[in-house]
Amino acid sequence: MTAIKVTCRRCGREVNSAECDSQLRCTLCVALSLVSQLLSQYEKLWAKRNRYRRAGAPHKALEEQIGRLAIRISTRLHERIANRELAARTLNSALEHARQRADTAGGKIVVPRSGQEIVGSGARA
Ligand SMILES: [Zn+2]
Repeated sequence: MTAIKVTCRRCGREVNSAECDSQLRCTLCVALSLVSQLLSQYEKLWAKRNRYRRAGAPHKALEEQIGRLAIRISTRLHERIANRELAARTLNSALEHARQRADTAGGKIVVPRSGQEIVGSGARA
């Protein structure tokens, strides 16, 4: 069996064509796009939690909400990604990026940009 290699349109990884959807996105990118709304919700909650925490306001309820959201994201990713370890790794890095975005935004409202690869800009005030 020869596998045809294609390049994922979104992340640029080379994957087997069987792993891609009709828009030439790899399994991971498809899974991540399905949870993108939940992830931006997570990011907003995290930024809110930071603001509350800095202000010394109670934020336990927020943390519980964040925990529940993380579980929902995890469930969705595991539904799409058969490899459990890969699913867990994808989840962790997605949540980490969301928290980083929330932290760098410093609690300000940021205009969402398409393409999420702006994390490493290092533009901390
Ligand atoms: Zn991809």
